[in-house]
Amino acid sequence: MARAAGPRGPKRARLAVLAAIALAAAAALSQSAGSTAAILSGSPRAVGPSRAGAGSIRISSTMEPADHATALAASDASGPSGATGQTGASGPTGPTSPTPPARYRVVGCRSHGDVAYLHGPDRREVAIGFDDGPAPDTPAFVGMLERSRAHATFFMIGDQVTRAYRATMLRELRDGDVLGDHTFTHPYLTSSPDVRGQLEDTIRAIHGLTGYTPCVFRPPYGAYDSSIIATARSLGLATVLWNVDPSDYTQPGTATIEQRVLEQVQAGSIVISHDGGGPRGQTLAAYPKIIAALRARGYRIVTIPELLGFRPVYNPCIRLCDGIGVPRSAVPRDAIIERAP
Ligand SMILES: [Zn+2]
Repeated sequence: MARAAGPRGPKRARLAVLAAIALAAAAALSQSAGSTAAILSGSPRAVGPSRAGAGSIRISSTMEPADHATALAASDASGPSGATGQTGASGPTGPTSPTPPARYRVVGCRSHGDVAYLHGPDRREVAIGFDDGPAPDTPAFVGMLERSRAHATFFMIGDQVTRAYRATMLRELRDGDVLGDHTFTHPYLTSSPDVRGQLEDTIRAIHGLTGYTPCVFRPPYGAYDSSIIATARSLGLATVLWNVDPSDYTQPGTATIEQRVLEQVQAGSIVISHDGGGPRGQTLAAYPKIIAALRARGYRIVTIPELLGFRPVYNPCIRLCDGIGVPRSAVPRDAIIERAP
């Protein structure tokens, strides 16, 4: 396999060094009843998915979540352990058997922050959110994004997340699009008696169909307060608004939608548009031109989690790949890899 050679060498060496340092330090600390957390909380990206030393990694309950995930990533890379349950059985220095490479699938993302995000950092990046789906036009939006080689964030109404859209949602995930929470019934949350239920039921609907847990939430009508942000945060959701709004839902015409977005957009912008809530042909027709024009200005089109620095979460998968499993080499570099539940 082409991916077996080059890049693994340095990582293997680094891992071995890190493991040696960690073990030595842990041994020293164990005499003084110290915590190993500080020792093991080095840069999560330093420890790559290498086969080397995987058997020597031990998960400490005092490790930070990111380190925990990284250590698991190292052990997960030792092969499709779920198939045999024999991870590490050949010993820490044993030869690698010719097992097929493990595959990984996206299962969510990890957000942070106790604010409502209106935009991202001042970089040449723009994120587009499509709200109020899944809906009859959603598959056409996914196709448009595929042809444009762009990714978007779909804020979904939980009540509409039905089995009929499962294939479309999995296609979105396979493409690298992001699924977000847009409440279950699209109420004004500031006067809703059950904010938590609105968010939780939608998470459950999306997860139930796709195995994906959203980490971003957009309040309908942009109506939110600090208590809604806190409730969302407690469910792992960042509250995401926008700073570019072409009011595409009023169907002002394709050219007007395009013109409004391009007039308002700036570095780090978050754009709101709609793939549901009515016929969205105008929006659909506008975006290939919008995306091309933004790229001509030097902007990258990214998802909202990517814009805000929220990392995707991947699990190794065997029978639960849902057709969206990818080899380790195709997992994004910034991904958190966790063991499947
Ligand atoms: Zn909406």
